[in-house]
Parts: sequence; C-alpha cells; structure tokens
Amino acid sequence: MIPFEEALNIVLSNSIPSGEEEVETGSAAGRVLSWDVFSDIDMPPFDKSAVDGFACRMQDAGCGMELKVIETIAAGSVPSLAIQPGECSRIMTGGMLPQGADAVIMVEDTEISSSNTIKFTKDKTAKNICYRAEDIKNGQKVLEKGTLIEPAHFAVLASVGKTGVHVAKQPHIGIISTGNELVEPSRKPGRAQIRNSNAWQLLAQARQIPVLCSYYGIADDSLEELKDKISMGLHEADIVILTGGVSMGDFDYVPEAMESLGAKILFKSVAIQPGRPTVFARIRDQFIFGLPGNPVSSFVLFELLVKPFVLKMMGCIETPKVLAIPMGVDFSRKKSFRKSVIPVTVNGGAAFPLEYHGSAHINAYTKASGMMIMDTGQTEIKKGETVNVRLL
Ligand code: AMP
Ligand code: MG
Repeated sequence: MIPFEEALNIVLSNSIPSGEEEVETGSAAGRVLSWDVFSDIDMPPFDKSAVDGFACRMQDAGCGMELKVIETIAAGSVPSLAIQPGECSRIMTGGMLPQGADAVIMVEDTEISSSNTIKFTKDKTAKNICYRAEDIKNGQKVLEKGTLIEPAHFAVLASVGKTGVHVAKQPHIGIISTGNELVEPSRKPGRAQIRNSNAWQLLAQARQIPVLCSYYGIADDSLEELKDKISMGLHEADIVILTGGVSMGDFDYVPEAMESLGAKILFKSVAIQPGRPTVFARIRDQFIFGLPGNPVSSFVLFELLVKPFVLKMMGCIETPKVLAIPMGVDFSRKKSFRKSVIPVTVNGGAAFPLEYHGSAHINAYTKASGMMIMDTGQTEIKKGETVNVRLL
C-alpha cells in the first residue's frame, strides 16, 4: 500500500501530452487552450462614455451651470466637433468621447433649460469614462495556455478577434464494468444481481471534462473476457478505466488481465478510504485504471486520480476548487492509517458531514457539495476547526 500522494505523483508523472488541434472558437467551450492568446487591439479601443449623458469639461459641470449642446454622438459614430468651454455634446453609452471633453455627466443629473442648452442639477464627481486600453492593451496576453475555456473567456476571445483557437486534443477514455452480478439499468436484477451503476456514473464524471468517451459494456469475471474487453478498449482509447475485480476475491482477475496483455502495473493499493484497491498500469503510451467496484470508491478515485491525470495530459493549469471553512460539528473516526474521504454539505459557511455508510452507499454523494479529506493519523476534527472541502 502506498500513500495517496505517492499514487497521485506516479499518475501525474506518467501523463503524456494529448497533442493539439485548432477548432472554431464557437465549439471550444470546456476545452483546454494550448496556446497563449494575445490581443490585436486596445480594449476599449477608444475613450468611451460609460453612461448616457453629456460630454463636457469637468470644470464646466458644477450644479446650476448651463451648457450649450453642440451635437449628438451615438454609439458607433465618430464625433465631429471638439468641446469648447461652455459646450457639451449629448452622448450615448459606448459613444466615442469628443475632443476637449474630460467627463460625461449622466442625463439623470441634468435638465433641459432651453432647446439647445442643458443645466446640471448636481455637483458631479464621477467622470463616467472608460479609458482606452484600461482593460487590455494591444499585444497583451489575455488568456494563458492551459486555461479551461469557460463562458467568460468567450467575451475576451471575441473581443480580440479569435475565431479559431488552439486547444489540447481530447484524450479518449474507454469504460468497462466488471462483475458476474451486474445487469444493465434497463433490466430488473435477478436474485444475487445488482444494476451496473458505475459505468453511468463514470461516463457522467468523464463528460465534465473535455474527453471523448466510449463504453464497452460489462465484462464477466473471467480472465479471457477481461482480456478481450481491455484489448477492445486499448484498440481505440488512450485510457481504459475498469471498475471492480481489483481486490482480493477469488474472481478478481483485473490486475492479472492487465499484466497478461503486457501492461506494467505501477501500483495496486493506495492508503485511501474508500478506494484502497486502486490499480494503475501503463502499456506503452496507454494507461489502464482499475478502480474498486463499490460505487463511492470509483466515484472518489475518478475525482482524485483520473481527473487530474487527464487534465494534466491536456496541459490544464486549473486546480480543484477547495474551500477552507470551519467544521460545523465535531467529527471523529476510529482508524487513521489511511486518508479518508467524507461527503460533506456546506451550510451557512460551515462543513457538515453527510450520512455515509461506506463505499457501497450508492446515494451518499447525491446531496454532497464536496469531499472533505481527513489526513492519515488524524482521528478527529472539532467543531470550528478549519477543514478543506474539495468542491464537486
Ligand atoms: P469488486 O470490486 O468487484 O469486488 O466489487 C465490490 C462491490 O462493488 C461489490 O459489491 C460489487 O457488486 C459492486 N460493484 C462492482 N461493480 C459495480 C458496478 N459497475 N455497479 C455497481 N456496483 C458494482
Ligand atoms: Mg467484482
């Protein structure tokens, strides 16, 4: 059994780059940028008004002062007249600031005093100008290689004229369930059978990251069938993930099947609860994870080992979102020779452990905000003590 940190290290140090491709920006949501992105313009490209109002000289904008309106500047049009003392131009939000003006007074702070003059009704302080290049300078790096592209990034990509982006290729993940007792969800389990839940859970987890997924069905607990299914997976996938068949049972043939196909097992037991019998193997530039069959174990180990591995293949620089918050109640456990992972909910800024009966507790995580990790050697956490909750 190796410490979890060592297992994670082995996994990460084995990861190999997935390569890159250029895609249309419109279809890049959720992908990982493989090139830095630079701006080809200043943003904003010109001094512009932040409000609908009157562009003028700040010194002319005291309460009660009247100014002559010399033109109207719509967004998208270039002002034709410079502002002289005692003058202003009506300007719309996003309109280009005319020469001579250094402030825009909101229309709400003015009144019309005659057909072409306005009067200020308040003493103004705010200039209401978005200055040229205050957000982004021409040539500036706006997005970094390794960024997971989210909706807010699209505004930047669009503004700097990126209609195509270079992104990491999506690693292909193949999923295999194992176990004679499994039937697919469409069937009612017979005596001593249960429904295959892991495959659907893993497919859903995998779809949260930019990968391609294939599902190869259920393999019986036989060496031959396991070898067949793993070979089928390795035929097209970069990473094959199996669940079940990795512990000490008489019919747990997964590690043997991996080895007999020429894969080298890099570890097969990790000091983590749930998830101890987790296997990681490499065969040339392809990888096989054997996750334990219990649904909570496979869920947790996918989050803690598989996701970081795959994201690293794509050069992703994002780190998991972790909240450091106080524990809402006292919490303890008896044994502490493994790290343990506990489902928690976050309520009123504090972490509360959820009911958890162990790794077979199929619905333990349905209401979880995240996972709390208790370190090796640690048996209790007092109410109010800070804990790290890794958000799901
Ligand atoms: P194993 O790791 O094969 O010893 O399985 C451990 C436990 O997880 C057993 O109770 C299995 O029935 C259960 N299990 C294994 N695979 C799945 C699966 N795909 N879906 C739901 N439960 C499973
Ligand atoms: Mg099994």
